[in-house]
This record gives sequence, C-alpha cells and structure tokens, in this order.
Amino acid sequence: MGKKNDYLGLPVHSLKGVGPKISILMERKGIKTIEDLFYFLPIRYEDRRHLRKISEIKEGEKALIVAKVVASKSLFFRHFRKKAYEAIVDDGTGSISVKWFQWISQYLKNVCRKGNILLLSGMVGKFGNRLQMVHPDITILEDENEIEAYKAIVPVYSEIEGLKQGTLRNLIKRAFEDYGGHIKSIVPAEIEKLYGLVPLYEAFLKLQFPDDDVSSQTSSLELLTSLRHRYLERLIFEEYFLFQLALLMKRGEVKKEQGINFQAKGAYYNRFEKGLPFKLTSAQKGVLKEIEGDMVRNEPMNRLLQGDVGCGKTICAILAACIAIDSGYQVAFMAPTEILAEQHYLTIHRVFEGMGIPLTFLRGNMGKERREVLEGIKKGKIRVAIGTHALIQEDVEFEKLGLVVIDEQHRFGVIQRKLLKEKGSGVGGQRSEDRVRGFEGSRVQGEEVKDVPVDFQLAIRNPQSAIHSVPDTLVMTATPIPRTLSMVVYGDLDVSIIDEMPEGRQKIWTKVFLDKNKNTVYGMIEEELKKERQVFIVYPLVEESEKVELLNAKEMAAYFQKSVFPSYRVGLLHGRMKAEEKEATMFRFKNRGIDILVCTTVIEVGIDVPNATMIIIEHAERFGLSQLHQLRGRVGRGLHPSKCILITSEKKTALATKRLKVMEETTDGFVIAEEDMKLRGPGDMLGVRQAGLPHFRVGDIVKDVNIMIHARKVAEEVMHKFTADDVVKINEKVMERWENNIHFSDIA
Ligand code: ADP
Ligand code: MG
Repeated sequence: MGKKNDYLGLPVHSLKGVGPKISILMERKGIKTIEDLFYFLPIRYEDRRHLRKISEIKEGEKALIVAKVVASKSLFFRHFRKKAYEAIVDDGTGSISVKWFQWISQYLKNVCRKGNILLLSGMVGKFGNRLQMVHPDITILEDENEIEAYKAIVPVYSEIEGLKQGTLRNLIKRAFEDYGGHIKSIVPAEIEKLYGLVPLYEAFLKLQFPDDDVSSQTSSLELLTSLRHRYLERLIFEEYFLFQLALLMKRGEVKKEQGINFQAKGAYYNRFEKGLPFKLTSAQKGVLKEIEGDMVRNEPMNRLLQGDVGCGKTICAILAACIAIDSGYQVAFMAPTEILAEQHYLTIHRVFEGMGIPLTFLRGNMGKERREVLEGIKKGKIRVAIGTHALIQEDVEFEKLGLVVIDEQHRFGVIQRKLLKEKGSGVGGQRSEDRVRGFEGSRVQGEEVKDVPVDFQLAIRNPQSAIHSVPDTLVMTATPIPRTLSMVVYGDLDVSIIDEMPEGRQKIWTKVFLDKNKNTVYGMIEEELKKERQVFIVYPLVEESEKVELLNAKEMAAYFQKSVFPSYRVGLLHGRMKAEEKEATMFRFKNRGIDILVCTTVIEVGIDVPNATMIIIEHAERFGLSQLHQLRGRVGRGLHPSKCILITSEKKTALATKRLKVMEETTDGFVIAEEDMKLRGPGDMLGVRQAGLPHFRVGDIVKDVNIMIHARKVAEEVMHKFTADDVVKINEKVMERWENNIHFSDIA
C-alpha cells in the first residue's frame, strides 16, 4: 500500500485534523486509509430541518427534539417482567421521558449521562400522563448550537468510541475535498454509460453528503433513502466487479497454460457407455458434453462438478477417464480418505478390469509392492491410479498423465484454493514441470479431517514428452451450494451441475420427531434391525463445556448396547478416534459386523453402505440443513426404502422446527442449500466461518445476489478491454482487498 499516486491508500493521519489519537480510534473501527473513510458510510440520515420544542409536541406524531439529560436510571416493570432504562430530558420548554427496553448497554448509559445534550428523533407516546419516546434514534451533540449551525439532512454514522459524530462528519468532508478527486472506478467509462451506472465519485458523494442533493424543503427523508439505495448498489457493483475480474483473470491464467488436445470419444468410451445398464440422465449428458468440450480444447480443463450424492457424478468422471485413456493418457483419481478411495477403486475396477484397462489402488501401507506399482505408473503400464491426495503429494511419477479427478465430497477444500503456481524452471519462457496447488484443510463442525493433507503438491512428471502439458482437472463435490454462491466460491472454475436424479430413485422418507417420542423411534429402529438392515445414529459434536446438556455419542452407544438393543451389535465412531480405528470401524459396519453405528459427523464423508436403511439424527436443530442433507445421503444407497429421522427437543423454537420441516419437504440439495443460506448466511452454511469467504465491504452475498450476477456478466464482457497497465492496477487492488482470500498469480 501507499504507492505513488495512490492517494486513497494514504493513511488517515495524512488528513489535517487527524492526529495519532484520532488515528487510533479510527483504526479500531477498521478505518486505516482515506479510502476506508469514504467507505465508512452513514447508517442512516436524520432530517434536522424541522426541530420541535417539547412544549409543542403531541402524542402520536414523529418529532425531532434537542434536550438535555436531567436524570437517568434503570427500571424494572414487575408487571411485564421487563427491564428498562429511562432518561428524563428537558429542553427548557418542558420535559419528556425516554425509554429503552432489553439491550441496555453500557454505551446507552454513557449516552444518557446527566448533562449530555441529545438529539432525539422518534414517535411521541404517552405513559400515564407523561409524554415519552421509546427507542428513539439518538445522537450526542457537542452543544445546543450545533443543530442551529447545521439545519439539514445529516448523515449518522455507526458510533466510533471517543469520536463525536460532528467531528467525524467534518473529517469525512475534508477527506472528500482533499482527495475526492482521486476516486476512480475500475469500470471503464463507456461501460458505466452503457449500463447507466452513476460515476463512483457521485455515489460516494451522495451517500456521504445527502444535503447537497436534497436541500430543498420539499425533499423528504424517504426520497433520500430510496436514492441511497441506488448509490449503494453502485458501490456494491464496483466491489463485485473487481472481485469477478480477479476470478476471471485467475481463470484466464490457467487457460493460458499448455493443455492437452484429447481426441473426441473413442473405443473405450463407447464400450463403457454401451455397457451401462441404464440410460444417462439428460443432466449427465449435458455435463459430459461440457467435459468433452473442455478436454478436446487445448486449454487445461479446470472444472467443478456439483450434484447430490447418487446423481451420477462418478459415472461421468469414469467416462471422462475413458476419453483420456482413449487418447493414450493416464488418469489419477483421488479421494480425501483411504476408505473413499477404496470405494472408488472397487467401482472403477469393476468396469475397467473387464475392458482390459490396467489400474491400481495406491494404498498407504502397501509394503514392498509399492515400488512395483510406482514403477508401473512411471512406465505407463498402469493407466489409472486411484488413491488419496497422497497420490500426487508424494512425487508419484506418471508416464503421461492426462486427467486428474478429485473427489472432494462435502469438504469445501476448494474454497481457499490458491492459484496453481508454477515453480519457475529458470529457463526463459519454459514451462516448469511441477505445479503446486494448495488446498486448505477444512473442518467438519470442529472435527478436523486429519487424514487429509492441508497442502499438497501436484508433481507431474512427463519425462517422455518435451513439452510439459498441464493435465485436465475435474473436481467433484456432493455438496450443492446455491448457484450464486458458487459464483463467488468457485468463480475461477467452470462449474457443471447435475440437478436431476436417475429415474426410479426412491425418496428417503424423512420425519421430524420430538424428543419425548423417542420410544416410537426406537421401535422403528428395531423394525429395520429385524429385517437385517443397519442403522446410523448421529450426535452433534460435544464440546467439553456442553457435556452435561447434550447427549454424548460415547455414552449413548454404551446405553443403547446395554439397555435398548442388547441383542444387536452397537458400534461407535467419532472424530477423536485414530484414523486406523475409524477406518476399521467403518469397514466392520460396511461388512455387517455392526448393526447400529452410533457416531458423530465423521460419517458425513461419502461412505457407501447399501444395507444401511435408516439414519437418526439427534439434536437435529444443531446442524445446518445442508449438513443434514449430507448426512441423510448416507442411507438410501441400496435397493431398500430408507428413512431419515430428525430428533429435536420440544423446547426448541418454532423457527428451528420449521427449518427442519424443509427436510421433510424436499430432497433437492440445491433447494436445501438456498434455504440454508437464507437462514444462516453463507459463511455459516459452508461451515467455514473463519476461513472461507472473501469479505465484502458493502455487498451482502445473500441479499445482493443479482448485483453479483450482473457484475459477473459485465466482467466477462469487458475482460479483454483492459490494457496490461490496467491489469497491473487491478491486480494491486485485488491484493489489497482480498490478499488473504484469493491467491493471485503474478500477472504482470
Ligand atoms: P455420485 O458419484 O454422484 O454419488 P454415482 O455416479 O456413484 O453417483 O451413481 C450412484 C449410483 O447410481 C451408482 O450405482 C450408478 O451406477 C447409478 N447411476 C448413475 N447414473 C445413473 C442413471 N443415469 N440411471 C440409473 N442409475 C444411475
Ligand atoms: Mg484439454
């Protein structure tokens, strides 16, 4: 920061009137630069043109008064069982009572300190025979005359401790006078015109200094508020536009690399497709078209495939693998855990073995055999290698790797994906042979997925070929997220969506039960067990401090075994177990060595147990809908009808119960994801509150979705118009704004 000519990036103390003391106060509020100050927008406006005297105001009207606090105290209304805070204010013509209920903060008490002069705006009411205002908008004034000097519609800012509103207002004004001329949009002028966007400077100006615009007596606060909307949208657009440009540039970088021109579908592809015992859904066909289109193109594919569990993603990935193999290339297939990798291996083995395609499962503990297998991959004898992410982490050498399929399942490992970087080879213009691609580790409700590497290296060696072509990448995820959100999270990837289930798939019967009806649920469990089916019982993670309140998986497993289902085998699976223990337990469950598996969310990862037909989720209100949907996907994977039971306590709010009802109504992961996002916000929904989403200054990802879509569209249109100089500047801006969130290659 603080580059030449970057006036907006100057620290706030560059401003006359801002010394070290005010600097510190501002910094506490996140205001460091002149630009931050411009972005510190009013939270509301106050019409100070029509000040009233207390002696004139009447019950039932809205009024603005200036008065001095003469007394204040806490109250308790026994009758309503309500706490309140009251201040008596006087303006020389009379006095009224001002009251606040609930949230009574120290801040409020400070505001109401005796002697303070307050500007109060609100509805006039009556309590007994005294006039009162309840929860008025309130501003501390420096003195009684301040209002006379500034009779206008004024901006009101979120409180900065130790800094008066009037002072702040003057400082922002000064910043505008001194530096406002340097406000410059990254949106090209002709595009602003084309889309009717007001100039950025104007948007800031109108938001910060409304009185310039509505000084006439006829303008109303309402009019102002509606205008504000338009100017705010302009700022949001600016922010989203920059963000989308960043993602597109990032994507463009990948596309510039030398990829592989695969041939169109060949013999293996056709043979595999013909052999399928079912017809592909039209969603699958569409996706395959997109994948094939990418693969035959010279640019490396960088595609994300989203779709609910069981929608047929793996089949699509196998068909993509066929395209690579048809063209004489190798395929690497990776999953986050060994058990999932093995599952993939078994599926793929079934089809490729018969087609004469040599493949291998690179296990963790292979012993001596490993060398031989590695040799086979290096020599190209083995065409498909399946394993965990260690597959590419540990310098496995391929003869001719063409396609990497990554099964991310539910984990949003892709979110903080750093851009694949090339380790410079030193020789001018030559491609390096390694690509480094970082994936951030993720947490599942606090349970660390320990067996997944946080960062891994994609070390690809094609010793035989002179040019090192970058293989195509296909990432699969079974966690649908709202389309608009995927534009933010996966904006640098091409996204394919399968939003259709194969025909004849049975819906998982889902029902919300109250705690007190647990016995009914136990009866239902018993019915399943009698049919020799298996059951999952899931508990939320237990934090130490909550132990008393929540049922703990461990204790419940013991209880079920001893007191409820003594003649069945109860198993336990939780995140604190060692990886090998977990895998062993899962393996036993899969092989019917366990009837009831009591577990925490560790089972979320796409484990396939076709004989499990029932899942019970305790304290269901503690989970996000998307997570419940993931959990529900653990059943219904075989031929038998399956059930999902969500248990919640009657003590929980109506809202919590209503939320759970969404699960009864739909099994569409995208619908559930939308609901989840509306209810919990995008960060929480993804379970990546701390690490995940980029922070936006003015935009709200949920509310301002349409602006994001628009920004994306415009960014795509104008991408090519930027000069190299522009790109450098844009890059700098992006780094300043989101350096921790989007990792950007050096474009210049
Ligand atoms: P995902 O990877 O999305 O969870 P899979 O590709 O594993 O889904 O498919 C789930 C199951 O559905 C598999 O048994 C697969 O053979 C089957 N399947 C896939 N596509 C279809 C289809 N179009 N019609 C019927 N069954 C299908
Ligand atoms: Mg290609």
